[in-house]
Amino acid sequence: MQFYLPLQESKQKPAARALTSEGTDDARDEEWMKRAMELAERAKEGGEIPVGAVVVLGDDLVGEGCNMIRASVDPSGHAEMIAIRQAAQRLGNYRLTQCTLYVTLEPCCMCAGAIILARMKRVVFGARDVKTGCAGSALDLIGLPKFNHVARVKAGVMEDACSKQ
Ligand SMILES: [Zn+2]
Repeated sequence: MQFYLPLQESKQKPAARALTSEGTDDARDEEWMKRAMELAERAKEGGEIPVGAVVVLGDDLVGEGCNMIRASVDPSGHAEMIAIRQAAQRLGNYRLTQCTLYVTLEPCCMCAGAIILARMKRVVFGARDVKTGCAGSALDLIGLPKFNHVARVKAGVMEDACSKQ
């Protein structure tokens, strides 16, 4: 059973220029969100709820995943979990302190937990999830100052496109 998506399977690299340090943060965030949206599309094709996620370190993609709950018969098979696991294994470090997670849908409580445990630097998400979103909508777990780590959150990047997937 395959839990990790090989990186080479991705359809195309996002426009390199937009992802270099020269681009603005907003432009870079949108380019990476487009990549996450491609992965969400892949989940949809597989009969899953369409959610895609990528983990980025600097200008490099280090992890990616799409929702695979049905395919893996695993309630923890969320796009973020798969992308975070892949990034940690690729980098040989369970702490992802310099990484940014891009995900098309606001993370749930489980994924918010993984984001905190991984000490993720930044989280960028597209569509808000009023029922289960734990980055501010249903609950703000990621921003809870009581926890030992608080990731920076940017909400609503390409929100319309993400919510229409
Ligand atoms: Zn989740």
